[in-house]
Amino acid sequence: MSLLVVGTVAFDAIETPFGKTDKIVGGAASYISLAASYFTRDIDLVSVIGDDFPESFLNTLKKEGVKLDGLQIKKGEKSFFWSGKYHNDLNNRDTLETQLNVLEHFDPIVPESAKNCEFLMLGNLVPMVQQKVITQMKKRPKLIVLDTMNFWMDIALDDLKKTIAMIDVLTINDSEARQLSGEYSLVKAAQKILTMGPSVLVIKKGEHGALLFNKEEVFFAPALPLEEVFDPTGAGDSFAGGFIGYLAKTKDISFENMKRAIIFGSAMASFTVERFGTERLIGLSQKDVDERVQEFIDLVQFDISLV
Ligand code: AMP
Repeated sequence: MSLLVVGTVAFDAIETPFGKTDKIVGGAASYISLAASYFTRDIDLVSVIGDDFPESFLNTLKKEGVKLDGLQIKKGEKSFFWSGKYHNDLNNRDTLETQLNVLEHFDPIVPESAKNCEFLMLGNLVPMVQQKVITQMKKRPKLIVLDTMNFWMDIALDDLKKTIAMIDVLTINDSEARQLSGEYSLVKAAQKILTMGPSVLVIKKGEHGALLFNKEEVFFAPALPLEEVFDPTGAGDSFAGGFIGYLAKTKDISFENMKRAIIFGSAMASFTVERFGTERLIGLSQKDVDERVQEFIDLVQFDISLV
C-alpha cells in the first residue's frame, strides 16, 4: 500500500564514546525510507538536497524501491547538515550544529502520483513544510504519522502545534513529550498531548523502549538489550519507518495492530544502532528481520497463571 515519506536527507557528523565520523549520509527520511522498505516497496520520498550529495546513496534508495520524483536537488547549494555528540550513556545527546542550508527555503512538491497515498509519514522537518505536504494531498491519507524534535519546539512551536492538530499519530521522545506538554509524568503528558489533535501518541525512551498511548489504553514495547550500541542516530526514524511500513503492509490501523507495529519499529531501530549511520539498514534479509522480531517476542513472553 502506498507510502509517502517526507523528511531530511542529510549529512551528519557524529561523535559517540566509540568513535567519530566525518560527514556521513543521514537524515530522518533516509532512515525512515530504508526501514520501511522491508515492509513495502511502494514508497515515494519528498525531500531536498544540494548538489553535494552522493549519487550512490540515491541509487541505494532507488534499489530499495524508493521513488525519488519528489526529491529536489538544488544546484550550487549545500545539503542539510547536523552534528551531534552522545553522552556516555548513549541515551542523551547534544546537538553541536544544525545547518539548514537547502532546508531554509524548501518548498515541498508532492508528485502527482503520490497525492493519493494512503499512508503519510512526516519525518522530522520544518513544521510548516510538513503542513504544506498534508495540504497537497488530493484525499486525506488513511493514516498520518508525524515525528519531530525539540529543535522545532524551540523555534517553531506555534507552527508545530498547528501541524500536530492535523495528524493521527505523533512520535516523540520522553523529554520532548515533557517539553510539549509541560508535564513531568509521561502519563499526564500523554493525556495532554492527546487533546492537541493526534489520537495516538508514541513516546520513545531510547534503550528503555517505547510507550504507545491512545485515550483509553497504554502499551509498552521494550528495546532489545544489545551488547553493543554503536551509534543511536536514526534510531527514532528507523522506528518510525518500521512502524508505518508494517501498518502500510498490513493495511490495518487499529490500536491492536499498532501494538505489533511498534515491535517491528523497535526491531528496525535495533539494527540501526549497531553501526554508524544508515549502514546496518542496507541489505538486511527478510530472515534477519524475522529473527530480530522473534528476539523481541522471546524477550517479553512470560507464562503466568493467576489463581
Ligand atoms: P534520530 O536519531 O532518529 O532523532 O534522527 C537523527 C537524524 O535526524 C539525523 O540523521 C539528522 O540528520 C536528522 N536531524 C537532526 N536534526 C534535525 C532537524 N532539526 N530537523 C530534521 N532532521 C534533523
